[in-house]
Amino acid sequence: MTINRISCVTPPFILTRLLDSENGEIRQAALATLVTTANLRGERTVRGLIAGALAAPADGRRSVYDCKGSTFLPFATLVRSEDDGPVADPSANRAFDGFGSIRQFFRDVFQRNSIDDRGMRLQGYVHRGHRYNNAFWDGQEMVFGDGDGLVFSDFTGSLDVIAHELGHGVTEHTAGLEYHRQSGALNESLSDVVGSMVKQWALQQTADQADWLIGAEVFTPTIDADALRSMRAPGTAFDNKLFGKDPQPDHMDRFVELPDTDEGDWGGVHINSGIPNKAFYLVATGIGGNSWEAPGRIWYESLKASTSTTQFQDFADTTYQKAGQLYGTGSNQQQAVKEAWAEVGIPVTTTPSLAG
Ligand SMILES: [Zn+2]
Repeated sequence: MTINRISCVTPPFILTRLLDSENGEIRQAALATLVTTANLRGERTVRGLIAGALAAPADGRRSVYDCKGSTFLPFATLVRSEDDGPVADPSANRAFDGFGSIRQFFRDVFQRNSIDDRGMRLQGYVHRGHRYNNAFWDGQEMVFGDGDGLVFSDFTGSLDVIAHELGHGVTEHTAGLEYHRQSGALNESLSDVVGSMVKQWALQQTADQADWLIGAEVFTPTIDADALRSMRAPGTAFDNKLFGKDPQPDHMDRFVELPDTDEGDWGGVHINSGIPNKAFYLVATGIGGNSWEAPGRIWYESLKASTSTTQFQDFADTTYQKAGQLYGTGSNQQQAVKEAWAEVGIPVTTTPSLAG
């Protein structure tokens, strides 16, 4: 339950590779980011407990704070709250607007009242630390770094990244998928699904029109990388000298076994998420139209029906059952779900006793 609930945007393997960069500034920023992220893991358990006890319904009201380069959040100053108009700082406005889009997405599409469905406040902290190459959700608030300006840009610039992080909050308040091994990779994948649905919904793009990239905006223009991940083609988001090749698999045959440790990305949660990511992409394009309609509904209902230890196979089977319940046994939607999971090497098991 207490394993690594700090959910970071930048996969640790990218930061680790940056430690080998020839550029000293890049090495320093990556190291500082890795160290401060590790320190946060110690703080969060206590903070989460206190914050949980104080949480009160608030209709998802937004507050954005400016850390002014500090890493100690209590020193941050409130710069924009729900009823305020735009302020001078573009980062604060982007975080505020991003929260607004995501809150409206969950309300309009899934009739969900904020992260916890009880109107949880949306709190954002911008300009955290100096050249901090990450953004994270700690169970209570979303914190953004400015990036080092060399490899990474300001993390408020990416709506799907913000939605990815808030998606971790939704998972935490529903299935509570444990953040390691397959349940952790599923947790990561569900956040990418939320991230891409919110982006497509905001742009009013169909599944065919979308780029299916996660974090296309986080790298500076000088960096040879499309994004952090590609849901359409896992393993192809980047391939460069600076941080290597995208390690995501797109099929169970290429599932990556890694140690269940911080260094092993908790069994490769940011790596093996490529497999369920690809399944969702195939379902969305197989059904056609908007990803947040039937595909999103099937995934969301399956998330709510999952538990903390749900594995890939369990989730695949649940989506198949939910598609049948929502759209009919043998419907196009259910058929698309079946074909998608088969294509990534996880054929659904259609045991009647699990249905309904
Ligand atoms: Zn994540």
